[in-house]
Parts: sequence; C-alpha cells; structure tokens
Amino acid sequence: MFDSLQERFGEVLKGLRGQARLTEDNIKDTLREVRMALLEADVALPVVRGFVERVRERALGADVTKSLTPGQVLIKIVNDELTALMGESNEGLALNVQPPAVILMAGLQGSGKTTTTGKLARFLKERQGKKVMVVSTDVYRPAAIDQLESVAKDVGVDCFPSTSDQQPTAIAEGAVAAAKKQFKDVLIVDTAGRLAIDEAMMAEIQALEASLSPAETLFVVDSMTGQDAAKTAKAFHDALPLTGVILTKADGDARGGAALSIREVTGKPIKFLGTGERSTALEPFHPDRVASRILGMGDVVSLVEEVQQKVDHQQAEKLAKKLKKGKGFDLTDFRDQLKQMSQFGGMAGLMDKLPGMGQVPDQVKNQVNDKEVVKLIAIVDSMTPMERAHPQIIKGSRRKRIAMGSGTQVQDVNKLLKQFTQMQKMMKKMKGGNMAKAMRQMQG
Ligand code: GDP
Repeated sequence: MFDSLQERFGEVLKGLRGQARLTEDNIKDTLREVRMALLEADVALPVVRGFVERVRERALGADVTKSLTPGQVLIKIVNDELTALMGESNEGLALNVQPPAVILMAGLQGSGKTTTTGKLARFLKERQGKKVMVVSTDVYRPAAIDQLESVAKDVGVDCFPSTSDQQPTAIAEGAVAAAKKQFKDVLIVDTAGRLAIDEAMMAEIQALEASLSPAETLFVVDSMTGQDAAKTAKAFHDALPLTGVILTKADGDARGGAALSIREVTGKPIKFLGTGERSTALEPFHPDRVASRILGMGDVVSLVEEVQQKVDHQQAEKLAKKLKKGKGFDLTDFRDQLKQMSQFGGMAGLMDKLPGMGQVPDQVKNQVNDKEVVKLIAIVDSMTPMERAHPQIIKGSRRKRIAMGSGTQVQDVNKLLKQFTQMQKMMKKMKGGNMAKAMRQMQG
C-alpha cells in the first residue's frame, strides 16, 4: 500500500534541501507537488485542499532550529498532518456492553464483508479471548450463507444457522437469543450487499440496526476504489450511524487515497486494515505508523522529534529558573507553565529540573495529571486579562461566568484559585530556598 505516494513524496521533499528557512516562496513548489502527489493517490479534492493549507500554515509558523534543515521540519509537519488526517491514534472496538456485543457489518457486495467477518471473529477470539458467534443475514444469495459457514468453521467459531427463506431481522434476533444463551461475548452479523447503494438494501440494514442496537456498525470497503470508498462510506453513514470503517484489500492498493480520505469525509475512524485473503490478514489501523510508511522517512521524523524534545528541555530549564526567582507570578504565568508542563511530562518532568526536588515522592509530583491540566488551562483561558493579573477580584459572579465559559463547575474554579494561591506562596518560599517545606504545604 502507498507505494506510489511514498515514491512521490520522497522526490518532492528532497527538493527542499539546502533551503535556509521555510518561506511562502520556497515552499510553494513543494506544496504544489504534495498536492499533485495526493491527487494522484486518488485522495478526495476537498481533503487535499484542507491538508495542503494546514501544512502551509504550520510550515510558515514553524521554528527551524539550528540543528535541523527546513526540509526536515517540513517532513515532520507533513508526517504529523498525515497522521491527524487519519485520526491520530488507533481506535479499537467499543465492545464494553451487556453481552453479546453485536457488530453489524455493512458494505457493498464484493467489498470483503464475509471474509472480514471471519477475520474479525478470529482476531477477537485469538487476540482478545472473546467467545464469538457469527451469523449471515444475506438471504438473497444462498451461497453467501454457505460461505460464512465455511469461513466460521475455518476460524473455529460458531455460526448461527440461517436459510434464504427467512427474514433478515428474524435471523438476527434469533442469533442474539442464541448468543445470549450460549454466553457469547460477541455476535458478528454479516449482511447482504449490492453492487451499488440502493434503497431496499439501506432500508433492510436500517431495520437490522434498529432491532439490534449494535455496539459497532462497521463499514467494510475496498481500498482499491480510492476516493469512491470515502463517498460510499459517507452515503452509508448518512443513512446508518457507522462507528468505524474496515479498509480491505490494502495489499493490492498502491495508492492509498481511500485511507487518506475516509476519516475526513465521514468523520469515522478506520479501525482495521485487511491485508490479504487469509483469515489472519487483518491489522488494527494505526494512523501514525501508516503516515510514516507513506512518507518512508521515519528516520527524519524521529530526528526532528529528538531535536524538538531537546528544545523543550531547554525551555523547561528556563522555566525552572524563572520559578526559582518566583517574581511577578500571575495567572497567565500559571497557565503558560501548566501548558509547558504538559509538554514535557507533566509536573514530574518539571520538578526533576528544580534543585532539591530529588526527595519529593512521585505521587506528589504527579498530583497535577494531564486531564486536570487541560481543565485548568481552559479555566484560565476563560478569564479576562484583568482577572488573570488580579485574581483577588474573582468573586462569586465572576467565578460562575468563568465556570460557564470553560465548561467546568464553580468548584473547579475555586480549586484552581486555591492551587494558584498555594503555588504563589510556594514560589515565595522557594526564593528563600526551602523547597521541601513549600512542597509539604502544597500537599496539605
Ligand atoms: P462480500 O461480498 O463483501 O462478502 O465479499 P467477500 O468476503 O466474498 O470478498 C470478496 C473477495 O475479496 C474474495 O475473493 C476475498 O478473498 C477478497 N478479499 C477480501 N478481503 C481481502 C483483502 O484484504 N485482501 C485481498 N487481497 N483480498 C480480499
């Protein structure tokens, strides 16, 4: 997968060597080439436009550290944006419901639904230790029911029997009852597909969805259909609340347009990739790994990450110095420091930089966890500059407004103000050098 895109990107990004800085002018040609490469890979046009624009914006605002070339920085940006385009990180199946968790498989005929039903059954059984049952509701093609039966036998899971004279919803309901009785964890429901989307098929799968309330409704689509895959997925999603996509036949697709378009067009994550005909050929989809495969420049990406991390460390040290001085510390500083803290490993990472902090137990350092930090930042962001500079004016009605503005509770605002005051006090103590005592106070 992605062979041609990888080749194109390689050439495009090589062209940037020797540039001193990223400017509107010198990235113009590169961006045009990136755009061409994506279009050739059959990525949907609006997706390409948005992508190129985001890369352009980030490139122009990018810091080119001394030890990096602009080309390397641009590669990192393209890599990050590719990852974001596909959804950042792997999203697994959400099967934490009253068993049996139902997975409804939707898609056009020939997309690989039945094959994938078998692969998924095997994956859940072998990798997650689930007890799985499968059932076919494709009453239009008797061969389809036989096919699923044989696939199920192949991977060693039970197949609920069905015949072509039954109603799909009746079959599915019977299967749920049987799965419940046999204490199955998961029931995968294979459905009929057509060559193109038609009303009868949509009505049928909508009825199935309504009667089953599936934990997952997965759209199975052939990646070789490129951006059409995204369009079909969108049409299905408009009629049926999909929870994710499985992209099949990735082994035969050299372009990758489907993988790059689907998330943006449908808003739904790709959860798995089908990579062959065998029942083991199913992989959880990892946007970051796929992005680095597309670029084929993993070494450059990790180099840039390393250098940028080093810069973060330098910032951390600067911050530590400022903290040591502890002067003029207001809520804006507090927020900025929280932001930076979350960048380099939270409170713990920062405190390790401060002198005399070696003995402070980890649980104290970890008091401020990441989620909490995001909340704190939102609260400070909802304050006016005046309030940030003079926290003492933040009384009842202001606290309410700030809580509303940041989507938090008044108690959260109260807590933040208390923490801030403690921090301010601590800072003053630190000036006097008595760090350990200050920390004990912050705990209390
Ligand atoms: P359905 O009509 O949607 O149920 O599609 P099938 O499951 O019958 O699959 C149609 C064809 O695609 C079969 O020949 C499968 O072996 C093949 N197929 C399915 N998934 C993959 C895949 O990931 N890679 C390859 N190479 N072939 C696949």
